[in-house]
Amino acid sequence: MRTKQFKSESKKLMDMMINSIYTHKEIFLRELISNASDALDKLYFRSLTDTNVGIAPEDFEIRLEIDKDARTLKIIDNGCGMTEDELDTNLGTIAKSGSQAFRAENEKTENVDIIGQFGVGFYSAFMVSDCVTVESRAYGSDSAYRWKSTGADGYTIEPCDKETVGTVVTLHIKEKTEDENYDEYLDQYRISALVKKYSDYIRHPIKMEFTTKEPIEGKENEYKDVTEIRTLNSMVPLWKKAKNEIKPEEYNAFYKEKYYDYNDPARVIHFKTEGQATYSALLFVPKQPPFDYYTKEYEKGLQLYSKGVLIMEKCGDLLPDHFSFVKGLVDSEDLSLNISREMLQHDNQLKLIAKTLEKKIKNELEKMLKDEREAYEEFFKSFGIQLKFGVYNDYGVHKDSLKDLLLFRSSNEKKYVTFKEYTERMKEGQDTVYYACGETDDKIDMLPQADILRDKGYEFLYLTENVDEFAIKMLGEYDGKKFVNICDDKLDLDSEEEKKKLESENESAKDMFGFMKESIGDKVNAVRFTNKLKKHPVCLTSEGGISLEMEKVLNSMPGAEQNRVKAQLVLEINANHPIAEKLKTLYADDKDTLAKFAKLLYGEACLIGGTGVADPVEHSNLVCELMTK
Ligand code: ADP
Repeated sequence: MRTKQFKSESKKLMDMMINSIYTHKEIFLRELISNASDALDKLYFRSLTDTNVGIAPEDFEIRLEIDKDARTLKIIDNGCGMTEDELDTNLGTIAKSGSQAFRAENEKTENVDIIGQFGVGFYSAFMVSDCVTVESRAYGSDSAYRWKSTGADGYTIEPCDKETVGTVVTLHIKEKTEDENYDEYLDQYRISALVKKYSDYIRHPIKMEFTTKEPIEGKENEYKDVTEIRTLNSMVPLWKKAKNEIKPEEYNAFYKEKYYDYNDPARVIHFKTEGQATYSALLFVPKQPPFDYYTKEYEKGLQLYSKGVLIMEKCGDLLPDHFSFVKGLVDSEDLSLNISREMLQHDNQLKLIAKTLEKKIKNELEKMLKDEREAYEEFFKSFGIQLKFGVYNDYGVHKDSLKDLLLFRSSNEKKYVTFKEYTERMKEGQDTVYYACGETDDKIDMLPQADILRDKGYEFLYLTENVDEFAIKMLGEYDGKKFVNICDDKLDLDSEEEKKKLESENESAKDMFGFMKESIGDKVNAVRFTNKLKKHPVCLTSEGGISLEMEKVLNSMPGAEQNRVKAQLVLEINANHPIAEKLKTLYADDKDTLAKFAKLLYGEACLIGGTGVADPVEHSNLVCELMTK
């Protein structure tokens, strides 16, 4: 018998497999089962029109056999089989799938990844075996052939005996090494788990003889072996069933088992499309974020199947970042089983799918907001921050699509409102959406400006998360209504008359304010009177784009030490508070004390604003000094 040589590319690929240090060698089983399943499909389809095939639809099956002593694992199918020629060309030459990995290897992309995500077809068997035998009898042929190879040196083909049509792939499993426990591929539990993991939804049964120990009746501590044939895969994927045939419990159980959640999902999205892209999608919106959700370790993505076979555990390209909390899977009819990661990224089918998914998720959330307000608010508590990041990220390209999904608590009832609800119930003539920033709602309520808004009957939104104001600034406006921070110096609630009065008061106190600003130093840009305050004597407002709250957030970010931002602050003094008169008197009689007052008032404003005073000792000394005067 002559030893044939692999074609040169195949030989290289074989080398790659044999010497692979890839840690997920387990995928070889998925590859071989999927080949067997394809072979079953071919004969099955033929049997639909050709009665000579003589196999009932339910009799098409894949069998796995483990022989620990012989160190063999067999993958047996009664599919279409291969002729001598086919054995030679199909297994001697690099196949479709292999060529992709091969190309990737030549282009020096990471082969390790390619192997893991997409496999390399039949040759992956050599990652775990030192000898592979394929005995096959093609449908319609009387003779069977044995293909055998121990590695890159080549392969032999010889006639053999085989009673039935189909293929037996026998893997002689490598000896255990220090780094790799190949023995696990001879363990029935491990093999069964691998089938569940990768091939659960193969539509033909995958059967294996299972041996378990059962106690012998009447004899203590004595056991006998009991063997039974088990079907390892569940065959019909849930997502392929008709929606009206699936009970909510089934969705929930599937979700919890597959995505390791204790809770039922908040929402299930299940649909099939045909046409431009043919695929099924089954998506879940979780109730609670997983523990690592808001960390760098969290990886978004959906499982990607090609005709029921898992080809990628986490396909990140299928989900936009703002919906990264969505779990689930896509099963495509159009993707090849062995498409590489690089190719996937550029795959138009995939882009099309991703686009539709984004739309579907958004619609579902909108529906939830409309019909199940309470559930939506719960969802928003878990993932609202992610949506707000979505508004802010990528220079705001998603802001319009996401803005109506946002909720903020408002001063009216301390309940969540949408921008739409806010703008629809705005006061007549109001052209602004007011918001206030702070650590908590309570702290915001203590802001001097909050009083005056409430007094004048304006509703405002509470922004208590770091991302909030950045998202709001990115939006800029809603439905033509500007967003205004109530602590912004541009907050304008006065009538024309009030404005004029204030202007003249400020004008006449100009020199005094100049003096006060000098006393405080460059911590403030200016000092002036305001009508914004009701009972409070002072407040700080910011000019320009950066608010005090943003200053706090930006300066707390890693790396901010070198590049600190500064809000441009104005110390505003309540023109209607007794302090106004007091200041004027001091300016005339006692400038020394006025300088101290200026510093103190600045300190007060800092305390009220929530930033604290920079020098508490100086501040309290000043207070005491004036107390004892
Ligand atoms: P791919 O599955 O991507 O084509 P493989 O290297 O896995 O690449 O397989 C090469 C070819 O060998 C298959 O396309 C198929 O024609 C044939 N083949 C492999 N396994 C079987 C099998 N169990 N029964 C029949 N044909 C098979």
